[in-house]
Amino acid sequence: MNTRQEYPKYLLDIYNQVNFVPLRGSGSRLIGEDGREIIDLAGGIAVNALGHSHPGLNEVLLNQSNQLWHVSNFMVNKPVVLLAKYLVEHTCFDKAFFCNSGTEAIEAALKLARRYARVHHHANKNKILAFKNAFHGRTLFSVTVGGQSKYSEDFAPLPGGIIHGEYNNLEGLAKLIDADTAAVIVEPIQAEGGVIPATLEFLQELRILCNQHNALLIFDEVQTGVGRTGKFFAYQDYSVEPDLICIAKALGGGFPIGGVLLKEKFNTGFAIGSHGTTFGGNPLAASVANFIVNTVNTPEILAGVTKRSELVVKILQSINDKYKIFKEIRGKGLLIGAELIEEFHGMAREIMVLGYDFGVATLIASPNVCRFTPALNIPLEDIEIGLDKFGTAIKQFLANN
Ligand SMILES: *Cc1c(COP(=O)(O)O)cnc(C)c1O
Repeated sequence: MNTRQEYPKYLLDIYNQVNFVPLRGSGSRLIGEDGREIIDLAGGIAVNALGHSHPGLNEVLLNQSNQLWHVSNFMVNKPVVLLAKYLVEHTCFDKAFFCNSGTEAIEAALKLARRYARVHHHANKNKILAFKNAFHGRTLFSVTVGGQSKYSEDFAPLPGGIIHGEYNNLEGLAKLIDADTAAVIVEPIQAEGGVIPATLEFLQELRILCNQHNALLIFDEVQTGVGRTGKFFAYQDYSVEPDLICIAKALGGGFPIGGVLLKEKFNTGFAIGSHGTTFGGNPLAASVANFIVNTVNTPEILAGVTKRSELVVKILQSINDKYKIFKEIRGKGLLIGAELIEEFHGMAREIMVLGYDFGVATLIASPNVCRFTPALNIPLEDIEIGLDKFGTAIKQFLANN
């Protein structure tokens, strides 16, 4: 069976997949159905924080699966309490809620913000300020809050009360937030949108305006959180504390789990029965995530991210010295984007696809940016080998174009 060709016969064909079908993975390497080995500089999409088949993760998953997979949220389970306790004790937040994905975390955060504003302020305080080019997920609410109309326009009518400002633009920002604003949602680094870090001034100004107008400041840390930037969470790199963060991706290292962390004050946004989930925070997901956070939030891993980041940037720069193909290399930690020069805008996917032919998995962020989000513990050697293959893909790309 040619698995790649069978896929669209039976599944919705919505992903435009590459021609590589992984059978198994180990560390930052994937072995394909065709026997080929590929260096993984994508790590899912910033998900496989500790690479593939991590022995510690496997052990936790197996142990938990021998004890208890799932109970409803009408019962308390121990792994979820341990996970929440860890997160609360190692961040500026006081309470957690768990769900199954980043989108669900966004949905929960926005619902909480609106209900909080309604209960504690007034019924018209329901406006949400988001930013152009942002990505917050794929449900109707999160896709509308996202700042790319191509993802939402076909699904109208969309939820109302959502406006979009210019990311990193202080001019006119104050006019976008008023007494009717329930929440402001922002990515500390716009990841899908092209790996664009927020400026400190921008986040500081949002903090000030949210304080002035009693609006809840939400950071979408679904991609930046859990060690990705070299800090446990990206907000810790800025001297700005949000009221709430949404997390997911790396949190489960590949096991689906998402969550919301918030300050005590906003705890009353939900009351018993206001919100819920069947699977969210179940024992399997919570015990895996607990292992992830305890492993990632250590000097070894976090300092290692910064060291790996420097190596990735250095090699990308040397590729650029040779081929003059990038306009800018940017990002933080192991969330790195290399924007193509204008001439090649729109062609990042072509390079990514070529990469698979030469044995390296990467990502794109917008059609103009090559993106790298490898495992936080990727061996330095795999960075070198993977980017060497990526350089070969660039050479081929330039020969083709
Ligand atoms: C991936 C992502 C989401 C959506 O998460 P899912 O788990 O795919 O639902 C939301 N926000 C950001 C910043 C993301 O990178």
